[in-house]
Amino acid sequence: MTLEIPVITPLRVDDHSRDIAGLTYVYPVVSRRAGGVSVGINLNPNNACNWRCVYCQVPDLQRGPAPDTLVSQLESELDLMLNDIVHGDFMQRAVPEGARRLNDIAFSGNGEPTTSAQFLECIDVVGRALDRFVLRGQIKTVLITNGSQLDKANVQAGLQQMATMQGEVWFKLDRAPQDGFEFVNQIKLNRQQVTRRLATAAALCPTWVQTCMFALDGELPDEAVLSAYVGFLAEQLAQGVPLQGVLLYGLARPSLQIEAPRLAAAPTEWMQQLAARIEAIGLPVKLSV
Ligand code: SF4
Repeated sequence: MTLEIPVITPLRVDDHSRDIAGLTYVYPVVSRRAGGVSVGINLNPNNACNWRCVYCQVPDLQRGPAPDTLVSQLESELDLMLNDIVHGDFMQRAVPEGARRLNDIAFSGNGEPTTSAQFLECIDVVGRALDRFVLRGQIKTVLITNGSQLDKANVQAGLQQMATMQGEVWFKLDRAPQDGFEFVNQIKLNRQQVTRRLATAAALCPTWVQTCMFALDGELPDEAVLSAYVGFLAEQLAQGVPLQGVLLYGLARPSLQIEAPRLAAAPTEWMQQLAARIEAIGLPVKLSV
C-alpha cells in the first residue's frame, strides 16, 4: 500500500455518490500534493497482506493473500468511476479546484495486490478501461508492491503489460535486504531473492524504490543501517539495474500496528540529508515528510 494516503475528498451523500463511495475494489483519492485525482484499486478488501510492516496504516491488518478477485465486478466499478470522472461531474462535485486532473490508476490497497491470483486479469481490466476512455498514454498506471511475488509468471506478465500503459512500479525496500528476519517488514527476507526481484521489476517496467524511514524507540536508523541501504542501491546501479529513483517517505501518518507507540517521525532535516545522500549516487529522490 502507499505510505502517503492523501486526503480523501468527502463525496456528496446522494444516491450516485454513495454508489461510488461504496465500491468494493475502486476508490477515488484526491492528492493535493500531486495536484490531481488517483483512481485506487484495492485488491485486498479483506485487509490482508503477506507482510506486516510496523508502520502499516491498514486497519485490522491480517496476514494472508488477497481473496479471489471478482474481475467482472472490478471492471464495472472502474467503468463507473472513470465514466463519472471523464464524462460526469465528479471533478466539479468532489474535487477542489486546482486538483481537477486525473493523474493515474493505482493498485494501492489494503494489502499486497500481487497476491491476487487474478492480478494479470486485473491489469488487463485497466488496459481495456484506458482504451475505452481514451486514456492510454494520458495517465499513469501505478503498482505499489512489496515485490514479494515478482518471481511469479503472472505477476511478471502483468508488469510487462503495465509497461505499455505508462506503468510505474513502486517497489518497497525499507532497508538493505539481509538474510533473516526484517523487523521493519516483520518478514524473513533473503538478500539474493530481493535483489533478483527488484532487478526483475526494473527490467519489465519503470521501477521506483519506495522507502520509509522513522525513529524506533527514540533512535533514528544508525550509520551502519544507512550506509548499507545507500550501498545496496549503489550496487544495483553498478549492476545496471535501471532504477528510476527513490520515493522516500517519513512517518506522515500514524501506524495502525501494535508497534505504533514505538515509532516517531524522523526530523525533516535528517530526511533531507538522506535524500541528498541518495541523490549523490545518481538516483532522483521524491521526498514526502
Ligand atoms: S506491504 Fe507493508 S505497508 Fe504495504 S500493506 Fe503490506 S504490511 Fe502494509
